[in-house]
Amino acid sequence: MIDIKSMTIGELEKLLADLGQPKFRAKQVFQWLHQKQALSFDEMSNLPAALRKELAGHAAITALEIERKLVSQLDGTVKYLYRLPDGEHIESVMMRYEHGNSLCISSQVGCKMGCAFCASTKAGFVRSLTASEILEQVYMAGRDTGEKISSIVMMGIGEPLDNYENVLRFLELVASPEGLNLSHRHISLSTCGVVDKIYDLAERNLQLTLSISLHATTDGARSEMMPINRRWGISELLEACRYYTGKTHRRISYEYALIAGVNDSRAQALELAALLKGTLCHVNLIPVNYVKEAGYEKSPKERVYAFQKALNDKGVNATVRRTLGADISAACGQLRRETEGLQPDPEGSVSI
Ligand code: SAH
Repeated sequence: MIDIKSMTIGELEKLLADLGQPKFRAKQVFQWLHQKQALSFDEMSNLPAALRKELAGHAAITALEIERKLVSQLDGTVKYLYRLPDGEHIESVMMRYEHGNSLCISSQVGCKMGCAFCASTKAGFVRSLTASEILEQVYMAGRDTGEKISSIVMMGIGEPLDNYENVLRFLELVASPEGLNLSHRHISLSTCGVVDKIYDLAERNLQLTLSISLHATTDGARSEMMPINRRWGISELLEACRYYTGKTHRRISYEYALIAGVNDSRAQALELAALLKGTLCHVNLIPVNYVKEAGYEKSPKERVYAFQKALNDKGVNATVRRTLGADISAACGQLRRETEGLQPDPEGSVSI
């Protein structure tokens, strides 16, 4: 079956031409799929009945099922556990802010990257998501809440740059004027540091916000926490980031999860400041969420704020992320872990 919701208008034109249809049908089908979000070809009332039948015979419209939905009593954060057509599970989290709703989405079922502190990688890697499965997380959250999603963060389960083709396709579809029409300026893509893809993204000049999961200031420490660092070390990563900023003029966001006694000293704050000084960037400090296998503990509050102050004093802009959804295990990977029979963090929450 053709995955029709992953197709661009240009590709639909070709498909429909093969079925003997005029060009304008492609836009109609695209709008049904992406604006009206039809879940069956029968709904596409301005298409001839014979065409609807033919499409239904050739193509499937990707749909996700809500397997579980948790709503935070504290702040209205909504967490979805979605079931994919093949029975696998992924998560999305909708966070409410004064300026609108932000949706954190997954790009893969599990993850190969093996970061020591991350729940998403512990249950292993199953497969990458298709573009339509990435997109449908956004559509479902919008339909289910009846609210507009005004920004997207690709910080859920998976490494987006390890599913690069499908992520690029998703980015094209979600920004399409005939679809959701969400500007790339309202999308953040978070990566553990897949350097060759950062260069490729820079060339495309998409105006995304690139988030880099840095978490350490020396190659020794980072390689221990994040296996990707053995392939591309910190200096190569930061060079790629400088190239990205040079090309796109977009500020880069660095994620730094503070782990008690591991990466939260004043000396490490000063090292981080030295690494980033003079670059167009912002540092997000996140007290690490506890993950059993890693044995890492959150840095105490005073240390988090001291770390932030040390960065700010050196002229590197840093904020401490606000915790949302603390009562619903909102941090990524946690619900899927429960479903797969693994232990979630009892205090797990998203910090955005
Ligand atoms: N693979 C991508 C996106 C998914 S992870 C990446 O690595 O960026 C989203 C963010 O959550 C990353 O910054 C990641 O490092 C961070 N993260 C993962 N586990 C965490 C934990 N236990 N506590 C705090 N942040 C965590």
